[in-house]
Amino acid sequence: MPHEQSVTPSAPYLQGLNPPQRQAVETLDGPVLILAGAGTGKTRALTARVAHLLQTGTATPGQILAVTFTNKAANELRHRVSGLLGGIDVAGWWIGTFHSLAARMLRRHAELVGLRSNFTIIDDDDQLRLLKQVLELQGVDSKTINPKLILGIIDKWKNMGLTPDRVPNFNAGELPQPLTGPQLMAIYRNFQERLVTLNACDFGDLLLHLVTIFRDPANGVLAQYHARYTHILVDEYQDTNTIQYQWLHLLSQARHNLCCVGDDDQSIYSWRGADVSNILNFEKDFPEATIIRLEQNYRSTKPILAAANGLIAHNKGRLGKNLWTEEHSDDLVQITVTMDQSDEARFVAEQIESVQRKNVSLDEIAVLVRASSQMRAFEERFNTFGISYRVIGGPRFYERQEIRDALGYFRLINQHNDDLAFERIVNVPKRGLGAKTISDLQIAARRLQRPLFPAVEYLIQTDELKTGPRLTLTKFVGDIHRWLGLVATMSLRDWAAKVLEESGYVAMWRDDKSIEAAGRLDNLKELVSAMSNFDSLGAFLEHVALVMENQERKEEPRVTLMTLHAAKGLEYAHVFLPGWEEGLFPNQRSMDDSGLAGLEEERRLAYVGITRAKHKATITYALRRQTYGEYTDTVPSRFIEELPGDTVSDERQKMKNVWAQGGLGAAVSTQRWGGGTPNWGQKKWSPQPKTPLVIDADIVVVNPSSAFRVGQRVFHEKFGYGKVTDIDDDKLDVSFEKAGTKKVLDRFVNIVEK
Ligand code: ATP
Ligand code: MG
Repeated sequence: MPHEQSVTPSAPYLQGLNPPQRQAVETLDGPVLILAGAGTGKTRALTARVAHLLQTGTATPGQILAVTFTNKAANELRHRVSGLLGGIDVAGWWIGTFHSLAARMLRRHAELVGLRSNFTIIDDDDQLRLLKQVLELQGVDSKTINPKLILGIIDKWKNMGLTPDRVPNFNAGELPQPLTGPQLMAIYRNFQERLVTLNACDFGDLLLHLVTIFRDPANGVLAQYHARYTHILVDEYQDTNTIQYQWLHLLSQARHNLCCVGDDDQSIYSWRGADVSNILNFEKDFPEATIIRLEQNYRSTKPILAAANGLIAHNKGRLGKNLWTEEHSDDLVQITVTMDQSDEARFVAEQIESVQRKNVSLDEIAVLVRASSQMRAFEERFNTFGISYRVIGGPRFYERQEIRDALGYFRLINQHNDDLAFERIVNVPKRGLGAKTISDLQIAARRLQRPLFPAVEYLIQTDELKTGPRLTLTKFVGDIHRWLGLVATMSLRDWAAKVLEESGYVAMWRDDKSIEAAGRLDNLKELVSAMSNFDSLGAFLEHVALVMENQERKEEPRVTLMTLHAAKGLEYAHVFLPGWEEGLFPNQRSMDDSGLAGLEEERRLAYVGITRAKHKATITYALRRQTYGEYTDTVPSRFIEELPGDTVSDERQKMKNVWAQGGLGAAVSTQRWGGGTPNWGQKKWSPQPKTPLVIDADIVVVNPSSAFRVGQRVFHEKFGYGKVTDIDDDKLDVSFEKAGTKKVLDRFVNIVEK
């Protein structure tokens, strides 16, 4: 074949690939599945394959569709492909997440599902507001039934590719009480209709609409795409759900040039409808497929890989793989027990500082949690320690109130039918439009069968409104039109600043005397600056809708803090895995909901976590954890027991010895309180000092003992240097050199070493 002759074996992107990887890269015709364990170079092979398709002239950039799951992974894919091709700009290429590619595709055919190409993609909050409206219209009291439960069902149907007319009969057990089947179906149907009226869709709709369009041969859309995309590539295929599977298979139906990459042991999204049988059935779907297995792991050291292999071997439902690595190391997987989550966070922060001293960049360090609620302790501790960090997948910049309000203005200007945006901002800042006026507007809009803004445009011409609201709304409507008229005449940044000023929104926060107001104004400034990177309002709004990650400031290295779910595909030199306790990890809810399957998915999640580490993995758990203000004693995760003994630092064995001699708690208390009664039961238990307490040569319990003593020299960020004069639990009396005597909380004070 021509492409095999045109590339020399020394092409840079082929260098260093092992034989099966090369096979994966060079088998360009027909379906290919790379089914292999973590860190074996699947993603690397996938990127090299894109380069090979282009370099051999087999495909042009426009003919390649490359899909992955997270924005971060998609950026990485683009970055790597660009790097392999000498740094060329790949911005317009079809490399992205399912959501971003589907949104781009759907804009071209929106009219086929009743939308216009500038449709709004609504987020979870707006989804909920909309559903509540639908429930109200149908006379369902949202107090008797949790609307989130219904949204969950609708999302599940969407992930399964079920439009309202395709939902099969379900049994009464599946129904959220007291709803009846027909009621639930009517809610789904009305919800979908309402979205179309608003010229909007939710994330689940993106692929659902496309598949609906593809399934109708009369429109010829699928045939166009068959002609267009000659090669389709998918990373993390084990986590595709039904609708993603349908979309990919429809697109690759004509040529079968579908290359999927994945690992059944890393399937961790079943709760979002991911179906691991998609990858396991690849051979059935495509009997002519080339199946490639990779066994050499290039990422992790031997102990890390052996620990991960040993753990995942406890799962029954798996293909089983034999992974090996050449990377020797004496650094075993470390397991450390801490007193509670605050200690745990401090231990991790201290470890990070010490890793940093060994010249490891913060960018190479990650803390991977099971539940996002674990993050707060780490965020707090990193702030006190001055450790820069980024949260991935956490509370997002674009979800803050002031940002959502500002976006409400931009959305309504961009798309007048966006009722949710209208409702959000029509009286923010206060324009004297009371709840009664707003509800009158909603009733009138329903009567007129128009979205709110066009209905208001009509109503202000009539005498239906009282003079006050009519004048206010006339100005509001005029402003929206005027701002729309201005958007193309100036830079997007200046325009946004103008809208926020002229609307009175900025003034509202300037006049607000609360502590948060200054921060909110800063956030708004940040938003306006971010807009300078976009040419059009539409492009900016689309970007916002798709952004799943926190804004990152790129200049300085940062520790990454994220959930295990967000971490797949990524790698870090040092990985911290906190909270390995029964109930937290494995997660109780997951086990309650799905039994053994749930437990096995939790174990896969643990496998994903450990295999992110290149050089060192540190697992921690706390002896007790505070929830709702109360401490509960914990039981170490069964996953700790399942790690092969020779792969972990032997602290567990020593811990067992300590337990055998009366329990770790006893050992700790003897050390901490010199044999006195420990204050386990007290709520205001606040361990602070930074020096770890050594119980047994190798068991480091982070810091239960108070290292503060009277006479100690300390430093407080605000008051400077001083000496401790009295200690009352977590409060210290300190005589400061400049600020005089103050009572301060010990966590704000650092001990000054002599
Ligand atoms: P995961 O299952 O976690 O997604 P993966 O199989 O996609 O992992 P990659 O991320 O592609 O693995 O590769 C893991 C690491 O190994 C990367 O740092 C990559 O650069 C390196 N690597 C992959 N293949 C080779 C190779 N042939 N020679 C040297 N290093 C390699
Ligand atoms: Mg990968």
